[in-house]
Amino acid sequence: MTKRGTESFTFDGGRVEPGDTGQFRYSVSETYLGDPIRLPVTIINGSEPGPTAFLSAAIHGDELNGIEVVREVAQEWEHSDVCGTIVCLPVLNVQGFTTQERYLPIYDRDLNRAFPGTPEGTSSTRIAYQIYRTFIEPCDFGLDFHTSTRGRTNMFHVRADMDDTGASRLARAFGTNLIIAGEGSRGMLRRAATDDGIPTITLEMGQAHRFERDLIDHALEGVRSVFAEYGVFRQETVRWPGWRTIIEASRDKTWLRADAGGIVEMQCERGDLVHEGDTICRITNPFKSGATIVEAPFTGLLVGILENPVVYPGNPLCHLVRIGPMQERIIEEQTGYSHA
Ligand SMILES: [Zn+2]
Repeated sequence: MTKRGTESFTFDGGRVEPGDTGQFRYSVSETYLGDPIRLPVTIINGSEPGPTAFLSAAIHGDELNGIEVVREVAQEWEHSDVCGTIVCLPVLNVQGFTTQERYLPIYDRDLNRAFPGTPEGTSSTRIAYQIYRTFIEPCDFGLDFHTSTRGRTNMFHVRADMDDTGASRLARAFGTNLIIAGEGSRGMLRRAATDDGIPTITLEMGQAHRFERDLIDHALEGVRSVFAEYGVFRQETVRWPGWRTIIEASRDKTWLRADAGGIVEMQCERGDLVHEGDTICRITNPFKSGATIVEAPFTGLLVGILENPVVYPGNPLCHLVRIGPMQERIIEEQTGYSHA
């Protein structure tokens, strides 16, 4: 692990001395007018040695919760006892954030499929390259904050390649109840970085286009816990979430889809435990009496649910992950669930 904190953090165009915080606007591309598209960057270089970590958000431009998490770490937290260096990247997709869109507005490219990028590639892979080479490569590990896609909401959880020792340690240290294991798609920031020996995990929290205070607070606790685990904050302790379940992305989860068009009356909340046969939602339409009932095909956790209630047949209703009988009992005990 690179021990920074007793040496300066340098990148092209910038330098931050030990004990200092630097605020930069780093040019990653240009607009049609030839103006720079500039990434906001805050670098906190501690006065004591320790690891270098990055915190990033809004790689999908309309996912706002993570922006506040990174902003508070960068701008509100006390930095006098930081050991190591914290690289804060609150808005990775500057154009998408400006237009409040998920993707880069030019040809709807997904910036989170463009990593590690290339200097001679398309516009998105060039942007990815600038970010990756300058701010990700110098790091020892990273946290990338996301929310659900617009119109849905996610239970707070970690996604990580649990076969990678470093990513597994990081995922556990963050302290969520649920970890979804999987290496992720090619071009994802977390996959590219983890493959390069910079363990990186994704935090999924809530919905796009919203600021959800309880989730932001929960995420800030997770950052403190990770910083405790890696010695960035020596006085903090690693937190245990009370219960934890790790599920395999490829095997144990499914999207339940609507078989009727109409309006969805959701009977559960994100994060709820549902048992096989429980009613999850009803689909009605303005021209009909009665409803189509959607039941849980197996016992599991509702990781993601619909927020915008209108559906075509085939649209996703909720994201259900399977849990075993032992996990079920632990969750019931911890959450005070009582069988009806
Ligand atoms: Zn996202």
